[in-house]
Amino acid sequence: MTKYIFVTGGVTSSLGKGIIAASLAKLLQARGYKVTIQKFDPYINIDPGTLNPYEHGECYVTEDGAETDLDLGHYERFLNVPTSQANNVTTGRIYQHVIQQEREGAYLGKTVQVIPHITDEIKRRMQLLGESGEYDIIITELGGTVGDIESLPFVEAVRQLRWELGANNSLVIHLTLVPYLAAAGELKTKPTQHSVKTLLEYGVQPDILVCRTEHKLSQEIRKKLAQFCNVNINAVVESIDASTIYDVPLLMLKENLDKTALTKLKLSNKNEPDLENWKNFLGKLKNPTSEVNIALVGKYVELPDAYKSITEGFIHAGATNECKVKVSYIAAESVTKENVAEKLKGMDGVLVAPGFGERGLDGKLNAIKYVRENNIPFFGICLGMQCSVIEFGRNVLGLKDANSFEMDANTSNPVINLMEEQKNITNMGGTMRLGAYDCEIKKGTKAFTIYGKTKISERHRHRYEFNNDYLKQYEAAGMIASGFNPETGLVEIVELKNHPFFVAGQFHPELKSTVANPHPLFVSFVAAALANKKSK
Ligand code: GLN
Repeated sequence: MTKYIFVTGGVTSSLGKGIIAASLAKLLQARGYKVTIQKFDPYINIDPGTLNPYEHGECYVTEDGAETDLDLGHYERFLNVPTSQANNVTTGRIYQHVIQQEREGAYLGKTVQVIPHITDEIKRRMQLLGESGEYDIIITELGGTVGDIESLPFVEAVRQLRWELGANNSLVIHLTLVPYLAAAGELKTKPTQHSVKTLLEYGVQPDILVCRTEHKLSQEIRKKLAQFCNVNINAVVESIDASTIYDVPLLMLKENLDKTALTKLKLSNKNEPDLENWKNFLGKLKNPTSEVNIALVGKYVELPDAYKSITEGFIHAGATNECKVKVSYIAAESVTKENVAEKLKGMDGVLVAPGFGERGLDGKLNAIKYVRENNIPFFGICLGMQCSVIEFGRNVLGLKDANSFEMDANTSNPVINLMEEQKNITNMGGTMRLGAYDCEIKKGTKAFTIYGKTKISERHRHRYEFNNDYLKQYEAAGMIASGFNPETGLVEIVELKNHPFFVAGQFHPELKSTVANPHPLFVSFVAAALANKKSK
């Protein structure tokens, strides 16, 4: 029977529920359990696909094409197991389903209400992944903070579900903040007491408290938290600030979070967790023998969460290369023809990021021209790839108005064009080319050296594509298509023949980089940056 762990948050947002959930899942997985994590978000958007990255950080895309919360990225990076449509559910999705059912007459004349209809639908979704029997344990992270009006139906659903599942089949972990008051020189437990009290008002008693803190929790504080929140003292878990999120599983292991959870679920904790590979990764991550500087040129740089998976991809690739990757986030708009050399000074490699819309386009083109002409390793992702095509068109092929149809629908040289199947689409949500597609790699190319095979699969999120009418012209001038979709012929990877490393993909490799499987494009790009640095 599948057991359920619910993770709620109290006191404030941004405590890192996703990291705690992923860390616990990692420990349980390392003990041999089959685990998955799902996230329930209380906002009304059907999914985060239509959200501006400034609102909610990066939109993470799954194999099956779901546009999801960035926490799913953490789940995949930690567990190395793909997530799916079912792993991220929003209030919007719940209501959409219930309202559709109502229109179909499925409620047989009943008044449709939050309780039971919305909570029933939440509970059904919470158990969906459990139906396959594939998982021993399902961890459900509830977005938002306990006490928020919009979280209420989710907390109520958890209360009901715990009752339905029966004793020992579920547990609630409450993540809370234990703030340090410098003036008093003390850690304070009151906010935690209050947030647990709020949960209790809704009928949910947490089993475990995970306490985010900047200082170690003394035995006395632990006892106080336990006593006032009705939990065992060993169920008060310290989650102290870590230098890297990848430390958190080991910190949780030290605090016995996994053991405590297993004991409460009446599951065996006999198998010691096998974390050898994880520790190897951490060893390399923390003991780099060299360092490289990478510029990430993009338009959402004020909020690093907008590029979460790329940042993590560099961490994985850095560890593989035993090299510290220092990423500088450069606002695309600020890069001009005049200052580009200054802006990219000291950079061993440059990545041009994914994105939408015209803002920052010129800056990206300036950066690409500079790295192309100066043999600096370049890595383009999605819009970054499209920009490299525009830049090459304008400055090498002499197509002065070469552009993407996205930026200029009247250009006489749409070297990046709207995809055929996108032409009749009017709705914005969930309508891009999304999820995993096969890609065939040409032998003898840099892409082939990097991947070491001809058949790969990568994840996508875009509406525009390389315009194949121009392919011959590009290839004749030295920009070749080294990867393409075997069914449609869409160009998926371009690279320059006469450049140490100039590779750009229409897909998002960052979404597939995990601790266990750092992405080959990131690994090779970091290696190229390192080689560039050494050659200077
Ligand atoms: N805006 C571009 C497109 O839709 C690129 C998207 C992206 O970078 N994810 O094709």
